[in-house]
Amino acid sequence: MSAKKTTEKKSAEASSAKSAASAKSKDPQEQIYQRIFSYMDLDMNGLVSVEEIHNTLAARGYTPDNQRVREFCEKLKGLKKDKIDLPTFKEIARNHIILLEKALSGGLVIPDFQKFTEQLETMFAEAAKNDGGQVADYIPQLAKVPPESFALSVCTVDGQRWSIGESGEFFSIQSTSKPFSYCIALEAHGRDKVHKHVGREPSGQRFNEIVLNRNGNPHNPMINAGAIVTSSLVRPELPPAERFDFFIGVIQKLCGETGEPVFNNAVYLSEKETADRNYALAYFMRENKSFPKNFELQETMDFYMQCCSVEMSSEMMATAAATLAFAGICPTTGERVFSSGAVKDCLSMMSSCGMYDYSGEFAFRVGMPAKSGVGGCVIIVVPNLLGMCIWSPPLDEYGNSVRGVQICQELVNTYNFHTYDSLIKTSSKKTDPRMRQTSSQAQNIWTMIWAASQGDLDEIRRLEALGVDINEGDYDGRTPLHLAVAEGQAAAVQHFVSRGAHVDVKDRWGETPMQEAKRQKRDDIIKTLSGGKKSGG
Ligand code: GLU
Repeated sequence: MSAKKTTEKKSAEASSAKSAASAKSKDPQEQIYQRIFSYMDLDMNGLVSVEEIHNTLAARGYTPDNQRVREFCEKLKGLKKDKIDLPTFKEIARNHIILLEKALSGGLVIPDFQKFTEQLETMFAEAAKNDGGQVADYIPQLAKVPPESFALSVCTVDGQRWSIGESGEFFSIQSTSKPFSYCIALEAHGRDKVHKHVGREPSGQRFNEIVLNRNGNPHNPMINAGAIVTSSLVRPELPPAERFDFFIGVIQKLCGETGEPVFNNAVYLSEKETADRNYALAYFMRENKSFPKNFELQETMDFYMQCCSVEMSSEMMATAAATLAFAGICPTTGERVFSSGAVKDCLSMMSSCGMYDYSGEFAFRVGMPAKSGVGGCVIIVVPNLLGMCIWSPPLDEYGNSVRGVQICQELVNTYNFHTYDSLIKTSSKKTDPRMRQTSSQAQNIWTMIWAASQGDLDEIRRLEALGVDINEGDYDGRTPLHLAVAEGQAAAVQHFVSRGAHVDVKDRWGETPMQEAKRQKRDDIIKTLSGGKKSGG
């Protein structure tokens, strides 16, 4: 804020005549609305410009197309006004207040998102000067991609998003599909069964080397041989078309609503045309009995190559990576896509084997789970913080994107993202963009209760996905259902009842949600509650 603005703000504070904050409410919830409103009320005249609201959200990683704020921004647009007052703000912010409060009070996982993205922009500009590397040409269609294509996208576990460069362009995901196929196989069969067929060690050889481990299995699921085996474990019972639909459906869930993954038939045909090495691997593995019983070689190969021929944008890939960072929950939709156990195994594999035969060096220097593909995409995961995607087709001698690796290196030079940076706190010049997280279960329960009182279904679903028990109460024994009823949040009541919330649970004054509803004379809510579940039942 400029000095002038600050002076103006002070004098306005002094007069406090029209300020929204001047009539400070005693109600703590009301105070939150007032605080947020005042924060954006730069002229302290009781009006906030719609532009200022958009700027404030964008600085924190929420543009109007972001699923986390889309509904709120649509309501804002629907008002067809340039400025709004506090009652109007309250009206439209009601179901989104928790995210807004978090965003404005420094409660998001990267509180100073603008500063963070400014530093990313510098890294991007620096890497853009690097014109080393060669675009992969062993699959002819890949050789046609313009080498100067360049994009970087990030998505945090709070769904804050930012991109630079050609972030909307679609590219061939190639080997960056491998972590996802591996997770799907783990979900379907469990770790023991999957690892009967594929190892967990770096191969120390090129990604398509014809070599197996001493059990006659491929070394790991991140190289071609291993991914061909994990592909054989992905829904082999389905007809080929449905099998592929299933895979792309999972990819869609991983990237939430940031876009729709597509299949590039030309890449697939080109890949199929030049797949001798992959066929050689498959026959070699069949001879060594690496595959599960009853697998069908040609169908498996087709499916493997189809998965590599999916196209996505860097924005979508960053969100998919953020889903891994968020232990399997998509940060933009709140949907659980993979179990946290599968994601843990996948990140371990990415850490040791994700960057071809540069993986050991990468783990030493960079120390973040990552995966690259010959299409020039690199995904990086900082667990509990963010997912990132860099797309730049020219590859180094190992097959990793030159600019992708450079940015990864720069990231850990700047931030304490290396897994073991936590050990060198004092001497390190690196910074930590993270909020100091004290996010305990108790805090989550409290947030759930507050979300219930505000009817914030988006936040309620997100917390449920994190495993918060909807029947937990606060120290007064007030559960989310009590609060949803007390505040007349019919949709939230409906939601809790459908999720099996106990309708007869008593708070410390002995009151149940049903009694509360009767006191409020809310017939619609009474009706919903009467169909609900009892604590004994
Ligand atoms: N489809 C490519 C192949 O099988 C994937 C290679 C890669 O990205 O590592 O050769």
